[in-house]
Amino acid sequence: MSNILLLNSSGIDSLAVAKKVSRLSTATLHSVYIDVGQLSRVPAKEAALKIAAKYCISHEVMQVFPDDRYHIEYDVGRNIPFLGAAIFMFGAIYARSRDIDFIASGLKNDGVSVEFNEKFLSLLATSKKTKVVIPLRPLQNYSSYEEIIEDIRGDELLPETWSCNRPKKCGECPKCLKRKELSID
Ligand SMILES: [Zn+2]
Repeated sequence: MSNILLLNSSGIDSLAVAKKVSRLSTATLHSVYIDVGQLSRVPAKEAALKIAAKYCISHEVMQVFPDDRYHIEYDVGRNIPFLGAAIFMFGAIYARSRDIDFIASGLKNDGVSVEFNEKFLSLLATSKKTKVVIPLRPLQNYSSYEEIIEDIRGDELLPETWSCNRPKKCGECPKCLKRKELSID
């Protein structure tokens, strides 16, 4: 039995990964939401909890900053720089401190070079305990985003997933527009 940690960001990819991994009879799925000050953290944490409640046997929120004073100022609607990289790093530390065999995530390591990403993943994979498997989008074994959606189309949690970087769904960012195009919202 493998212990797998879902880096649960509450989005469509997290739901797809959770559903995919939960089908494996040899895996136990744990979930963590890593709060590094995302503007969307309040609704995202609620959505992450719902995904975890359905598909995971445990869920934790890793709160990086003690309160809002420490949250990074950045343009509304834009991601924190290196958000993906930060979540991967905190996730790897979290996994190593627990009995985790694999890390699963639909997150994309945005904003870093291909070279850095490869070195970073190989560094994490040197851990004796945790083998880091990060399926970048589109998720492993899916050839397109539409295929990801089809796999979770009937899941009642699909409309509950949170994609927008803002604290309220703005309806105009690329993520909100993509959700409208796919008839999720
Ligand atoms: Zn939006």
